[in-house]
Amino acid sequence: MTTLQPINIIGAGLAGSLMSVYMAQKGYPVNIYERRSDPRTKGYLGGRSINLALSVRGMYALQETGMLDEVMEFAIPMYGRMLHDTEGQLTFQAYSRNKEECIYSVSRGKLNIALMNLAESMPEVNYYFDHRCDEIDLASGKLHMTDTVSGKEFTVEQKASLACDGAFSAVRYAMQKTPRFDYSQEYLAYGYKELTIPPGPNGEFQMEREALHIWPRGNYMMIALPNPDGSFTCTLFFPYEGEKSFAALDTDERIMAFFEAEFGDAVPLIPNLLEEYHQNPTSSLVTIRCYPWTLEDKVALIGDASHAIVPFFGQGMNAAFEDCAVMSECIDAYAPDWHTVFDTYQKLRKENADAIADMALENFIEMRDTVADEEFLFRKKVEFMLGRTFEQYKSRYELVSFSRIPYAEAYQRGVTNLEILKELTVGATSLEDINLEKAEALIQAHIG
Ligand code: FAD
Repeated sequence: MTTLQPINIIGAGLAGSLMSVYMAQKGYPVNIYERRSDPRTKGYLGGRSINLALSVRGMYALQETGMLDEVMEFAIPMYGRMLHDTEGQLTFQAYSRNKEECIYSVSRGKLNIALMNLAESMPEVNYYFDHRCDEIDLASGKLHMTDTVSGKEFTVEQKASLACDGAFSAVRYAMQKTPRFDYSQEYLAYGYKELTIPPGPNGEFQMEREALHIWPRGNYMMIALPNPDGSFTCTLFFPYEGEKSFAALDTDERIMAFFEAEFGDAVPLIPNLLEEYHQNPTSSLVTIRCYPWTLEDKVALIGDASHAIVPFFGQGMNAAFEDCAVMSECIDAYAPDWHTVFDTYQKLRKENADAIADMALENFIEMRDTVADEEFLFRKKVEFMLGRTFEQYKSRYELVSFSRIPYAEAYQRGVTNLEILKELTVGATSLEDINLEKAEALIQAHIG
C-alpha cells in the first residue's frame, strides 16, 4: 500500500498526461481531470491530422518515462527545411551539420493517446473525462469541478495540484486575482488555417517526406509537415487584415487566385482547398507570460498554462515536456515539501520560458521572411561552414532543437553567433572570402 499523498492533475493534454506518468512512476496516486471526452472513444479534435515537431527536449522526457520507443514508431524524421519559391523551385537547408540530427513530425492525437494509454495502465492513475475545473479556491487549494455530463458540481479537497490546463487555464485565471500576479497576453496580427495534402493514388507522399516544407512569402508563409499515412498537414500563417489577408480573401475566386499565384506548386496537391479553407477555423496566435507560476504548496502551472508561445520554433510541447522533467527532478529532491518543490521549479523554468517565447517570435520573421533573403542565406552558409569546421560552434537552432542547454543560454549564444557572423561577413560575397583564422579567434574569444 502506498503512503504517498494523492496528486490532482488538471488537463489531460500533452503535459498533463506525461506528468501523470511521471507521478505514477514515483508511486503517487493521481486523479487527472479533463474537460473533454475521452479521445479514444470520441475521436481526437474532430479526427483531423494535426502534427507537431518533436525534438530533443521533448524526447528526453519521453525517454525518462519509457515512452520514446513507442512514439518513434509513428514519428517521421525531418532533416531540414525544404523551401518552395513562387516558381516551385526547391532549396533544401539542413537543420544540422550532423546528417543524423533531425526533428520529428508526430501526430498530436496519437502522442496524446499513447501517453493516456500508458498512464491508464498504471494502477495509481484515475482519469476523469468530461470533468471541468472551474476554479481553485486560493485560500484552501480546493478545486471546484463540474461533471459536464451529469452537470453535477463538486469539490476536490486535497492538494497538491498540477495545472496542465493549457493556454486558457482556469487555474491561472483564478491565480490572476492574487496580489502582485504578473500577467500579459499578446496576440499576433496573424491567424493560421490548416489544409491537407492527401497521399497520392498509391498512398505515396506527394512531396519530399523527410523535410519540413516552407513557402516563405515575405510577411506570411505556409508550412507543411508529413503524416505517417502519406499526407501532409499544411498551415497557412497569414495576416487577419490588409491587402493580402484572410479578410481580403472574401470570394472563392480570390482564394484560388491567391493560392495559385503564391503557392502554385501546392495547389494541385490540395484537391479540397476551397472546402477546407471554408470549413477549417482561422485560429489565433498568442504569447502568454505570467508569474508566479505557483501558489505556496497548493498548485503549480505547467506547460501552456504557464507560458503559451507562438509555434514558430516548434517548441511549445517540447518546453512543456521539459517543464515536466524539471518538475520531476524537483519532486525527487524536495517532496513532500511542496512549497519548495514548486518554488524551485518556477525559478528554474521562468527565464527559460521567456527565452523560448522570444525566440519563437523571432523565428516567425526568419521563417516567413529572411529564409528568402540573400544576406540571411549567405550568413546561413557561413554558419554552416563554421559548424563543420569548429566543433564548439553551434547555431541557435541546433542549441534549441538538438541540445538540452537551457533556453536562456541558447538565446544568449544566438546573440553571440550573430555578432561573430556579422563581423566575418563584412565585405564578403562568397565562402572563399571568409577568414577562417579570424573566425577561430572570434569563436575562441566569445564561445570558448
Ligand atoms: P494543451 O495541449 O492545450 O492541453 C491542455 C488540456 O487541458 C486540454 O486537453 C484541455 O482540454 C484541458 N483543459 C483545459 N481547460 C480545462 C479545465 N478547465 N478543466 C479540465 N481540463 C481542461 N509545439 C511543439 O513542440 N512543436 C510544434 O511543432 C508545435 N506546433 C504547434 C502548432 C500550432 C498551430 C499550435 C497552436 C501549437 C503548436 N505547438 C507545438 C505547441 C503545443 O501544441 C503546445 O505547447 C502543447 O499542446 C502544450 O501542451 P499542454 O498540455 O500544456 O496544453
